[in-house]
Amino acid sequence: MKIFDTMTKYKEDFVPLEPGKVRMYVCGPTVYNFIHIGNARPMIFFDTVRRYFLYKGYDVNYVSNFTDVDDKIIKAAVEEGVDPSVISERYIKECKKDMEGMNIMPATTHPLATQEIPGMLEMIQQLIDGGHAYVAKDGTVYYRVQSFRDYGKLSHKNLDDNMSGLRTLKVTGEEDKEDPNDFVLWKPKKEGEPYWESPWCDGRPGWHIECSVMSKKYLGEQIDIHGGGEDLVFPHHENEIAQSEAVSGKKFAKYWMHNAFLNIDNVKMSKSLGNFKTVRQISEQYDLQILRLFMLSAHYRSPLNFSAEMMESAKASLERILTCMERLKDLAGKAQERELNAAEEETLKSLETLVQKFESSMEDDFNTADALSAVFEMVKLANVSVTEESAKELVSRMDETLRKLLDVLGILPERKKETLDAEVEALIAERQAARKARNFARADEIRNQLTEMGILLEDTREGVKWKRA
Ligand code: AMP
Ligand code: ZN
Repeated sequence: MKIFDTMTKYKEDFVPLEPGKVRMYVCGPTVYNFIHIGNARPMIFFDTVRRYFLYKGYDVNYVSNFTDVDDKIIKAAVEEGVDPSVISERYIKECKKDMEGMNIMPATTHPLATQEIPGMLEMIQQLIDGGHAYVAKDGTVYYRVQSFRDYGKLSHKNLDDNMSGLRTLKVTGEEDKEDPNDFVLWKPKKEGEPYWESPWCDGRPGWHIECSVMSKKYLGEQIDIHGGGEDLVFPHHENEIAQSEAVSGKKFAKYWMHNAFLNIDNVKMSKSLGNFKTVRQISEQYDLQILRLFMLSAHYRSPLNFSAEMMESAKASLERILTCMERLKDLAGKAQERELNAAEEETLKSLETLVQKFESSMEDDFNTADALSAVFEMVKLANVSVTEESAKELVSRMDETLRKLLDVLGILPERKKETLDAEVEALIAERQAARKARNFARADEIRNQLTEMGILLEDTREGVKWKRA
């Protein structure tokens, strides 16, 4: 299996630290609002990576945090006049609902920054003791980037290049810094903000230290894969490396994976630009599996532009898959109890070739676009070669194979109940309209269609009621 590593800029062979096991850490969202579909891209992609490892029989320990203490959360709390924890707890709950809709498996652990403060105090102290951090006059603790020889190795930047673009320290109000690139590990509280006691000042952690600490606690000093969106390469992940490796003396992550942006009108979707759509808004119009299919239709390292046309095309794709699965289910009851014939043996060989195409695509740096096209070829194969006359074994092999691969992609092989309900409601409304227009032929046609779907109608004084047969 090959993985493109941001650090080496090569597709590297995947060799886990421990045979049969994968330890992954994926930076999660800051929870001050509903997540937008840009945030959903890494969630969907890395969940698919995890699912592929599971399919290959690996034991996967998957950790993804929620950043629940941050300026934006505090600002939202002030605006609503509530405690910041009210904001973060609310949006963690909402984020988990969205994740469920997108079939994203809950992480093995979803640590919260606010619950991990003791570990952060400990790591910051170790950095100070090792000469990698220093305390400024006001109690702010900074990381000393000049103390870490490899600083810049992930983002391929050089310290002399004045990477963060800060020309003078005075402009930034951070005159106490030794170097413009030094970053905050701990900062003093401001009036009305949440804070924790520390040896340096009452305050709260910087963002970067959170991930180093949570990753170490739940996965150990070294991990296989660290993931996130490409905006995290610098400074967030560069700083995580500086912290973690300065303390452990070991290579922090074996492979660094970064997804490209989800764009809208070719501009990065972000909260700050205001050009975002939340996952929740999308869910009002579409089954979120359609969003998932849309995301997986491009390679994760290619930018992806959101558009209504692409969503409609993903909707049609999901429909094609679900119709095929329904048909296979129906045929399972009708197919023949007999040995496979020669033509069917050939069909199974073609099926196997497509499974290989799926696997080799996924193993080529998780090319989900090609893996999806293997699944569509499989759907086509099922549609043309499986009939009522087929041997039962052919039907069941097609069905099982498709289910397994759909599971890797995180697509449910059956229609979700609510989408079915919405479809039934729409047909009933159409039937009522037809009756009103005295188009009884169309009304009867719809009733028959509903009967075929296993829906029984009852005309009552309060209107039409329906139930499943
Ligand atoms: P944030 O809440 O901004 O820290 O982002 C959480 C995750 O979403 C990070 O991995 C970001 O890199 C990722 N992310 C944010 N916006 C986008 C976008 N437009 N496209 C792809 N990934 C994004
Ligand atoms: Zn992080």
